Amino acid sequence: MAQIQDMMGSFELFQPTELERALDLLRRHGEEAWVLSGGMDTFDWLKDRAKRPRYVVDLGGIQELKGIEVSDDGIRIGAMATLTDVATHSEIRARYPIVAQAAEKVATPQIRNQGTLGGNLCQDTRCWYYRSGWPCYRAGGNTCYANAPGALNREHCILEASRCVAVTPSDTAPALLAVDAQMEIHTRRGRRTVAAEDFFIGPSIDITRMTVLQPTDLLTAIHIPARWAGHPMYFEKVADRKAWDFALVNVAAALDVANGTIQDARIVVGGVAARPLRMKETEQAISGHAPNEQTLEVAAQAAVQGARPLQFNEYKVALTKNLVKRAIREARA
Ligand SMILES: Cc1cc2nc3c(=O)[nH]c(=O)nc-3n(C[C@H](O)[C@H](O)[C@H](O)COP(=O)(O)OP(=O)(O)OC[C@H]3O[C@@H](n4cnc5c(N)ncnc54)[C@H](O)[C@@H]3O)c2cc1C
Repeated sequence: MAQIQDMMGSFELFQPTELERALDLLRRHGEEAWVLSGGMDTFDWLKDRAKRPRYVVDLGGIQELKGIEVSDDGIRIGAMATLTDVATHSEIRARYPIVAQAAEKVATPQIRNQGTLGGNLCQDTRCWYYRSGWPCYRAGGNTCYANAPGALNREHCILEASRCVAVTPSDTAPALLAVDAQMEIHTRRGRRTVAAEDFFIGPSIDITRMTVLQPTDLLTAIHIPARWAGHPMYFEKVADRKAWDFALVNVAAALDVANGTIQDARIVVGGVAARPLRMKETEQAISGHAPNEQTLEVAAQAAVQGARPLQFNEYKVALTKNLVKRAIREARA
């Protein structure tokens, strides 16, 4: 169990100013190392002593990870750009408004000033049993405390449960999947690019991780291609409070509409599974149709197909259906 001490255990801190040096440190220290960006997720783990790395590699001094570059091919956002940088960037707001809106919905201004886009995408789940240090499946144990009778599971998943019922906490992830963002990753073997859709993984793939990143890997940039720039889009987050709260469910959509008919669509829902889920059956159900109420009803039904709510989160089924309908109905260029 975690000891809430509000004091971090000791570790060796590295503050490289070059990417290569950071990668070298991660290669050298492997699973004993922890990547530090803005610290907004990290410091909770370290203060609660639920994670006790021997080495911490702070990316804060690496300038090349901070920039936002605009080109005809799209926008490249360095993993260390802050959420405020993303929310206020004029080109991101103009071309991919849902990405800026999602960043703007995270937590509080202070957290957005300090927290980075890379950290927001790589942050761990908020399941309180796991975060409090209970020895659950995700922590290497052999049970899921959130799925036991009477457990506090109002915020947990309705889709893709596989022993673990935790959900993805990120607001920016669904928006980036909706615009088909590509993740630039540096691994032991060099640089590779992974579609945002494949970057996040569920417990049936690996119950101990939320992304494809291995301990020696770094997410270095997020590239948003030009394909969806300027198309009708929609983002909405539903939480218990208007600020400083994680999403119960969030939705992001990008539509390609011509002559009143949806030609192509990307619809993504967060807060319902361990990874942001692209609603492919919903996308198929609306492609080739006008976004009328009949189409929306079919689309909403497709989004929750196979949903298996837990004891206290049945409401997420209706909420997801309504958000998917609203996203398609309200998407604006
Ligand atoms: C009170 C509170 C409220 C919050 N509310 C919300 C909310 O409403 N919506 C939301 O989406 N988030 C919310 N968060 C989460 C917060 O936005 C994220 O924790 C923050 O964005 C993480 O960014 P960071 O730069 O601080 O990352 P850090 O805390 O430094 O890192 C987060 C994790 O990602 C890993 N990591 C970071 N950068 C990289 C990288 N480049 N490559 C590989 N791994 C990396 C770290 O090792 C760590 O495991 C909240 C957090 C708090 C404390």
